[in-house]
Amino acid sequence: MGINDENRIVETYELRLSADELLELESVIRADWNALSEPCPKCQGTEFDHLRYEGGHYGHHEDGVVQRTDYWDQKGSLYTACKSCDEVLYKHPAYDLLEQWSDHYVK
Ligand SMILES: [Zn+2]
Repeated sequence: MGINDENRIVETYELRLSADELLELESVIRADWNALSEPCPKCQGTEFDHLRYEGGHYGHHEDGVVQRTDYWDQKGSLYTACKSCDEVLYKHPAYDLLEQWSDHYVK
């Protein structure tokens, strides 16, 4: 609410699963917040709920499995929210997809 609203950029997407099944996905970006090293722009809080994805090149090495991020890696942020005021600071549309896909397909 109020002065920070203009910095909150929300986009919505629809993913059609079948003729009568539609998932609604939403992304959130805050123009006034860029990284976990910055405090929450709404309440100046510095504790966050943060979810990210990370993958790399995995292979067997002697008796173990090692990850080599120098060959190939993929990582990024999925969701960040302030723990103090619950403001969503970043949400990738895949976050909603992950949640709704689980509700839909895991019984
Ligand atoms: Zn906050």
